[in-house]
Amino acid sequence: MHVVVIGAGVIGVTTAYYLSQQGCEVTVVDRLNGVADGATYANAGQLSYSFTDALAKPEFVAKIPALLAGRDNGYRVRLGPALIPWGIRFLSQCTNRRAAKNTVAVLRTAMRSELLMRKLREKLPFDFSHREAGKLVLLNSAAEIDAARVNAALKSGQGCETEVLEPEAALEIEPALSVMTGNFAGAVYSSNDSVADSYAFTVGLKELLEKTGRVTFRLGARVKRLRKQGHKLRSVELEGGELAADAVVVCTGAWSGQLLRPVGVDPHIYPVRGYSVTLPPGAAAPDVSITVLHKKIVFSRINGNLRIAGFADFNGFRTDDDSKRIAALMEVARDWAPLAADYDAENRDQWGGFRPMTPDGRPCVGPSGIDGLYLNTGHGMLGWTLACASGYDVAMSVTHSVH
Ligand SMILES: Cc1cc2nc3c(=O)[nH]c(=O)nc-3n(C[C@H](O)[C@H](O)[C@H](O)COP(=O)(O)OP(=O)(O)OC[C@H]3O[C@@H](n4cnc5c(N)ncnc54)[C@H](O)[C@@H]3O)c2cc1C
Repeated sequence: MHVVVIGAGVIGVTTAYYLSQQGCEVTVVDRLNGVADGATYANAGQLSYSFTDALAKPEFVAKIPALLAGRDNGYRVRLGPALIPWGIRFLSQCTNRRAAKNTVAVLRTAMRSELLMRKLREKLPFDFSHREAGKLVLLNSAAEIDAARVNAALKSGQGCETEVLEPEAALEIEPALSVMTGNFAGAVYSSNDSVADSYAFTVGLKELLEKTGRVTFRLGARVKRLRKQGHKLRSVELEGGELAADAVVVCTGAWSGQLLRPVGVDPHIYPVRGYSVTLPPGAAAPDVSITVLHKKIVFSRINGNLRIAGFADFNGFRTDDDSKRIAALMEVARDWAPLAADYDAENRDQWGGFRPMTPDGRPCVGPSGIDGLYLNTGHGMLGWTLACASGYDVAMSVTHSVH
């Protein structure tokens, strides 16, 4: 069976891996010249197997006036024709019941992803800086602590144990918090969350797959359109020709709607831009991954460096504010954790990427409704975390329904 995977981010390459494990011959196509050059490139690196909390929740609705007025530095929102229908769907998910349902659905996938990643790591011959770092999510108020307790109970019911801690207990776990200047009222600790370099993973996996001879990469090849005949996908039209396949899996992240809408499939994905800066560590860089929830930033110790990542800009595919937003991210980080990184280092890497966000925060994984066309997209803030389970699931779906 020949399967074409469109998109060579962490999702596409992991999908290719599981398809090849099922005996498929795979062609991975990407318009860029390298793999992992989209949202996968310099994300926060957190394998957040426990922190799958839905963004769409009642508390978010309360924040909307401040977001629209530009008073919350963690977000930029510019209403436009793509954001409004997406936003209406997002708002429909902002009830306690739906938030809990979405959090649990993603948690279940994340927990399976953890197990699959553990198995995969035993087999992979290359290093991608995987570390069982643990994760502390810092909370700002009594209301955040109450919500965290509700979520911890919800997750415990699924077999995922997290702890809601007093600040002193968090300090024992991560002493670097004592020299951070921002106050926090409590923290959620998850010892099983890890950190690793999704770029190194994707590049390493690509090289490994090429050696097997079963997976071919066609890079620098943009897919112009999907061609279907009746209810069946016929082929993939590239800028320089056409590719026939028994099945096609769309893994094009934030750009998925552009390929899918013309064939009548709408995954309702909005591009939410976030940023990262990777710096040499400072005198008190945390070892444990730290999320400062109300500032919308995270600190991850990765590859010996400190990566600061975050913000969520709902501004379409625009990138013209990048340098301002990266400067703002650095300012928040420097204020919060002045000794965590060498903020004045010249050898810094700064980056922006588009998270492929669905309104309910759940990825679209499996058959599309068109014969031969499958989806593995819409992983939003958690694509690295969910890559193994989503890749495995879609590979099973393809190989069990194509004959
Ligand atoms: C700032 C930031 C921090 C993040 N932190 C984390 C984190 O800590 N943990 C976590 O789990 N997740 C995190 N994420 C989310 C994660 O990075 C994404 O969910 C994940 O990378 C999505 O992977 P993907 O393969 O679907 O998309 P991408 O990596 O964007 O890949 C999509 C690919 O499709 C290709 N493509 C698009 N259209 C076409 C076409 N027409 N023809 C050919 N190719 C095409 C693109 O070139 C691209 O290479 C973060 C994201 C951001 C932005």
